[in-house]
Amino acid sequence: MKLKIADSFNKELSSDANLDNTRRKVFGAMYSYVKPKRPLSPKLIHVSPEMCENIGIHKDEVDSQAFLNVFSGSELYKETQPYAMAYAGHQFGNWAGQLGDGRAINLFEVQHNKKRWAIQLKGAGETPYSRQGDGLAVLRSSVREYLCSEAMHHLGVPTTRALSLMLSGDEVLRDMLYNGNTAYEKGAIVCRVAPSFIRFGNFELFASRNDIENLKKLTDYTIKHFYPELGAPSKEVYIQFFKAVADKTLDMIIHWQRVGFVHGVMNTDNMSILGQTIDYGPYGWLEGFDFGWTPNTTDREHKRYRYGNQPNIGLWNLLQLANALYALVDEAEPFETILNQYQKDFEEAFLNMMRSKLGLDFKKEGDQKLVEDLEDCLLLSETDMTIFYRLLSNFEKGKVENSLEIVKQAFYNPEEIQGKKEEKWNDWIIDYDKRLKLEEATDQQRQIKMNAVNPKYVLRNYMAQLAIDDANEGEYGLIDDLFQMLKNPYSNQPKYEKWFAKQPEWARHKAGCSMLSCSS
Ligand code: AMP
Ligand code: MG
Repeated sequence: MKLKIADSFNKELSSDANLDNTRRKVFGAMYSYVKPKRPLSPKLIHVSPEMCENIGIHKDEVDSQAFLNVFSGSELYKETQPYAMAYAGHQFGNWAGQLGDGRAINLFEVQHNKKRWAIQLKGAGETPYSRQGDGLAVLRSSVREYLCSEAMHHLGVPTTRALSLMLSGDEVLRDMLYNGNTAYEKGAIVCRVAPSFIRFGNFELFASRNDIENLKKLTDYTIKHFYPELGAPSKEVYIQFFKAVADKTLDMIIHWQRVGFVHGVMNTDNMSILGQTIDYGPYGWLEGFDFGWTPNTTDREHKRYRYGNQPNIGLWNLLQLANALYALVDEAEPFETILNQYQKDFEEAFLNMMRSKLGLDFKKEGDQKLVEDLEDCLLLSETDMTIFYRLLSNFEKGKVENSLEIVKQAFYNPEEIQGKKEEKWNDWIIDYDKRLKLEEATDQQRQIKMNAVNPKYVLRNYMAQLAIDDANEGEYGLIDDLFQMLKNPYSNQPKYEKWFAKQPEWARHKAGCSMLSCSS
């Protein structure tokens, strides 16, 4: 296995002088050198062939001892210096101080096909930032991160990627439901890949300590490597940088809203500076459409990170980033302007996204109302978001009569759709039909467009849980099945038709299938 190592983060930025792997506060440094823990008996479960290709690993090398050694953390790749990053963050709206890579270890950066990728192991042992944690990850959360990050990419949502999923062979003690019942679970390691894993929290760390020198170095590094189009750093460029991050963050969140993804832990340490979905913890997918839903049991009470609040939280997190970058600019107004613009851009981008879900090409006055009326209808009775939009593409212009039948499969309790509720739905369909008549596209053309933005298959929590249950028994076939299916989430795949279905009743009450704790 021959990789073109092209380290930049640990070459250009300052390291922690302390080389001991002891838990501590780290000052004046971007990262600490640390070696992965040697796993007891690593075993490869799955690889992403596409990511292998992206970083320059031939498919014949995947089964080699070298691959197993490097991506399980058993052995260091030659001439590399792994490290854990220092960052801080706001968690659930509160300042949490120093956090850092508590169980992620960055191995190296690789250059391939003119692209540079940072390669990171999650669950490879403790670091100076592990605080009270053990630095490890269990199989269930690793399967979820592995499958979802690749699935999100194929849905067209900006995201970090995954190269491999391994068993470590170690046992990890966890209290999965946070109810005092601890048990040993299988340990696992995911190799994650992204251009960079820098988060809002990396900037917040230095700003909070008034370490302007490192704040500037980090910002300049980020602009140079990831926003080179902005040019040489200056006050003006820092403002443009913030604007670019705001735009990317907004774009990412609009995609989440489109596919019904709920991140679950939008803390500022989980916000990528590249606007990529990062840190797949207790995330989930909307089954019944519900603005108020969150998958995270820790957030059960306040529902800060509920589906409908994600765009606002994006703004709140950007405000924290603005506060951090302020020290480089010394002027609040440009940041305020950008944050105000985010709100306006959001309204417009959201409406455009909804138009695309409904198959509307043109902007027309009244579209906002059409969308809001639809949202009201979706809330009348539990309605599966994914199935609803997918089936709506079967609507034929002018055929209003009985058209609710088309989407019937999306209702969890179809018998509830009667009387006033049925009337409301029928009114909406009449409005939708009127609106469609203003469009030029034929039914068939519209269907093709709608099916390109409304996925047929998403990684519902119960599907991931079935794969996890099998994996815990040493069966990995379902992981591969879901992985293959989710490569083409917008295509009709007759082979996988059974996954185009509502969440089964048993899944409502089974751990891991509806809400999840942060335990991982
Ligand atoms: P998360 O909510 O998963 O994004 O984690 C928040 C912080 O806790 C990050 O700094 C993580 O690195 C750290 N963390 C989470 N789980 C562990 C663990 N098992 N061991 C060490 N640190 C952890
Ligand atoms: Mg995190």
